[in-house]
This record gives sequence, C-alpha cells and structure tokens, in this order.
Amino acid sequence: MHHFQYLNGVLHAEDVSLAAIADAVGTPFYVYSEATLRRHMRVFRKAFAGTDALVAYSVKANSNIAVLKILASEGAGADVVSGGELMRALKAGIAPSKIVFSGVGKTRDEIEAALAAGIYQFNVESEPELEAIDAVAQTKNTRAPIAFRINPDVAAGGHAKISTGKSEDKFGVPWSRARDLYKKARDLEGVEVKGVDVHIGSQISELAPFEAAFRKVAALIADLRSDGATIERLDLGGGLGIPYGEGATPPHPEAYADMIKQVTEPLDLQLIFEPGRMIAGNAGVLVASVIYLKEGEAKKFLIIDAGMNDLIRPALYDAWHDIWPVRETAEPREPFDVVGPVCESSDRFAAARALPPLAAGDLVALMSAGAYGASQTSQYNTRPLIPEVLVNGARLAVIRNRPAHEDMIANESAPDWLG
Ligand SMILES: *Cc1c(COP(=O)(O)O)cnc(C)c1O
Repeated sequence: MHHFQYLNGVLHAEDVSLAAIADAVGTPFYVYSEATLRRHMRVFRKAFAGTDALVAYSVKANSNIAVLKILASEGAGADVVSGGELMRALKAGIAPSKIVFSGVGKTRDEIEAALAAGIYQFNVESEPELEAIDAVAQTKNTRAPIAFRINPDVAAGGHAKISTGKSEDKFGVPWSRARDLYKKARDLEGVEVKGVDVHIGSQISELAPFEAAFRKVAALIADLRSDGATIERLDLGGGLGIPYGEGATPPHPEAYADMIKQVTEPLDLQLIFEPGRMIAGNAGVLVASVIYLKEGEAKKFLIIDAGMNDLIRPALYDAWHDIWPVRETAEPREPFDVVGPVCESSDRFAAARALPPLAAGDLVALMSAGAYGASQTSQYNTRPLIPEVLVNGARLAVIRNRPAHEDMIANESAPDWLG
C-alpha cells in the first residue's frame, strides 16, 4: 500500500499534487511519501514484534539523508556496502550499534572507518577479506565483530542480474568452506565471531527459496555450534519483493515472519534483517514530461524527459514500472513505447504499453521507483542528477537539488599542457 492516488483527477503524493511539484521544481524529479516509508517500516517491525530483531535498512536502495533520518526515527539500523554509505548512515543519526557492513570488496580504508565508528557487524564475504579485517583490527588493538555471509547455493530472484545466492554468483563464502572458515576465524586475534549471514537476492516473490536457504543455514548453525563456535546472531539479508504491477505478488511480511519464526525459534538467536526495496520501493515515483510524441512506421514513441541515467532498472534488469498519467482520463488506451532522450537503444522504460493519448507537456509518473531509482542515477549524457522531493501531508521539501551544468563539471580540469 502506498500514498499516491488521484484527487480531483490529478495524481497526488499524499496531499500534494504532482503537477504542482512539477511547476515548482521542473521535471523530471523523484517524489517520496514519508507516510509510506514509515508505514512500510512499521509493518515490517510489527511482523517481528516480540522477537529480538534488528532491522538494518539497506542503504543502497535509497540513500538520501532525509529518507535515512525518517527510517532512523522508526528504529531502523543500516546495512551499508561502502564507506560513503557508512558516512551517510552516521550522519543521519543511526547508531553504530545498529550498523552492519556488507559487500564483497571492503577496502582497508573502509574497514578502518567502520572499526573507528564501532559498527555492530562486518558481514565477511571471503577468506582474504577475513584476513584483511583481522589485520586492520589488530593494528587498532581491537576485535571486529563478524559474521560470514554464506552462499547457500539456492536459486532465487526474478532476474539473473539480481540473483546472489547461487554458487556461481560472486557473493558469500562457499557452503562447503563455511565450517573451516569459522574454525580459522576462532583463532584470529582481530576478529570475534558473532553470527551467520545470508542474503539470497532481490525482488523475491515466493517464500520457498527463502525457506530453503534459511533451513540450510539453520542446520549449519547447529554444526558450527557443535564445532565450538559462538553463534548468537543470524542475519537473513533483504530481498522480499514488492508488486511492480506485473508478475507475482510477493508474500506479506507477516507470512515471511511466520516462516522465519518457525525455522529459527529453536536456535535462540538475535535476528538481523536488511530490507531495502520493500521499505522504499513503493514510497517513491519518478515524474517526467512528454517531450515529443513520435509516430514511427510501426509504433508510437512517447519520448519523455527522464532517461535511463535517471532510472536504470528497466535497462539493467528488464524491470517493469507501471506508468500512470498524472492527469486522470477515461480516454481509450493505445500502445506506446515509452523512451528517454539518452543515446542508447536500451533507454526504454516500456514497450507497447497501453496508455491514454498523451501529448507534449503532459506528465507521467513511473510508479514504484523509490528503491534503486535515485540511488542509481548517473550523469550520463551530461544530464544533471534530478531532484528528490519529500512529501509529508500537505508539506513538501526538496531533499536533493538539481545541479547547474557548471556545477556538474566543477571537479574537472584540463592539464596545463592543453593550454
Ligand atoms: C541489496 C542488498 C540488500 C537489500 O535487498 P532488497 O532486495 O532491496 O531488500 C540486503 N542485503 C544485501 C547484502 C544487499 O546487497
């Protein structure tokens, strides 16, 4: 459920008209509903009420400082995957004791920064990384709290580019190596084993792959304990999908929680979750204007002023986003290819999408764009990063500005020899 609906024939974010935001900030722009962000966080937390659970929001889904502050005020911790995201989480007021650090390529500088901050847990993804964390921690006379991210070799995820839990994916330590690595870690002075971590992918719309992975991990925990390891935490990653308007309807957090409680209750663990998409996805939309309606030989193209640099999911993962006209109309629909202005054939948001007649200047909203939207924007084609706007009831605030062209090249310079 989200807070984007038509009022008097115009699409609104909570009580604010998207047409009014377009007048105020220009298009394209992202707009987020604060009420939706809060609601999703509460629904997730409520599903696990009564269990010892840390919800560490996956910062990469939407890393705007205002979004992080909202989620922090709902009790969220953070799952970060870079030193930059760690900085954001701390700046947003998230306690280090609620921050976990994931990702396959943590550098020594990033490990140092995370140790200095005193984060809750490093999710270790390889043996060399274990050695690096151990070495850095020893030079700082401290011990890094760790969990190994285990690759359970389970297929999940709607698209090959978002699957992470198969043995051929780059993520996690191999299932067959897990017990040896835990034994090795026990003898290191710079690390302290705390738990086990698993994250099988993103946009997963069934419970079965989660359950298969979690049952494997539960069995592993029993083995690790019999090997003498202290396992007190279980990080179950993110990955619960959202409805994008096409394809399967993902399970409700309550059903997800019931399954997890069944699998984990006998183990007496603190649970950690890293949801991203299910918190931020439906809390944001991307609003664009139609620049041209182009009649091709065989089809009609709607050329909008947002491009793949503003929302890359369709190009990167063949992702579906519903497209709603900002002004509601009952006119009959016809198929359009909705494309952006970027000079790439993959700069296409939808093919043969049924839309009402639209003309230059009309506004459209690409729905469910709050996660992996703004956080994946680039300046390709020297297109400025687009504004992000936050709505709370009838109030709105710009939470990321559109840079001027001059600002975009401010960090560039030509060497002396070019005169
Ligand atoms: C991306 C990611 C998440 C969040 O995934 P969602 O599908 O957005 O819930 C959680 N954990 C890790 C390690 C990730 O890489």
